[in-house]
Amino acid sequence: MIRRIQNILKPLTLSLALLTPIKAPQYSERLAHDVFQNEPVEVLSRHLTSGLVSITKKNFRGGIIKEYDKSSLKVLKERLTKRNMMVVYCSPLADCRCAYTENFGHFFAKRPLGRPHLGLDIFVTPYALKPKKPVKVVAPIGGVVIMEKHARQVDNLIGNSIIIMGRDGRRYAFEHLAKASDYNESIKLPKLGDYLNAGDAIGYIGHTGETTLWHLHLSVMTDEMLEKQLKSKTWQKIASESQYSTLCGQVNPLSEKDAGPIAKVLHAHIKDRH
Ligand SMILES: [Zn+2]
Repeated sequence: MIRRIQNILKPLTLSLALLTPIKAPQYSERLAHDVFQNEPVEVLSRHLTSGLVSITKKNFRGGIIKEYDKSSLKVLKERLTKRNMMVVYCSPLADCRCAYTENFGHFFAKRPLGRPHLGLDIFVTPYALKPKKPVKVVAPIGGVVIMEKHARQVDNLIGNSIIIMGRDGRRYAFEHLAKASDYNESIKLPKLGDYLNAGDAIGYIGHTGETTLWHLHLSVMTDEMLEKQLKSKTWQKIASESQYSTLCGQVNPLSEKDAGPIAKVLHAHIKDRH
């Protein structure tokens, strides 16, 4: 009997441990070191994105996706990374207490089509309820917005989202961002082609898309992982059914091998919890 109770309590204890809020470390040095800080952002954005071809499409539930085409992304990556300057990273939720889990989705929802959950879910309140005040999500690295998606209420999967091409050549995706009616404050997602410095606002934590709980889904993509993932049959099925975005393969940002230095920043948060 006692063993039975222990077996029941075990997963519960684990879930509660994951839901304990932690204090995020500060990364105040980030802006002081930002090498682009003296260059006007509009000018910077213009010369990084001039001549790039963008595509606007509607997904099957009426969400609007704007993104660059494949060859434009190649050009953009060359322009962004050629500058050969120091790249600064910060936490996407540097200014708040938050907790992380790699497999958040698996606790609460069955994924369609056997889709693996590749990314990191970050939540800021116990049980991932609506935060009392809007929780700002910031760019963890300087870079250009290469996809903006505005979801309709009935839309599924990623909800309101953006992807940034970072100055390290990786792509950073932010999903489930808040919609305008969630808060009284006006919420504007950055636009396609906007340049963001590390620490610039992206939006607020929300629950748009395939989630009923309030969290940020963050994933990181390298070109190599993306190529591999786009070839997989499961992913092709998901992409064609959801009209998601061909820019979106996903790598878990806690994996240092694939996600690079941002993994260290995120690991620092996790360590801070103990
Ligand atoms: Zn997720």
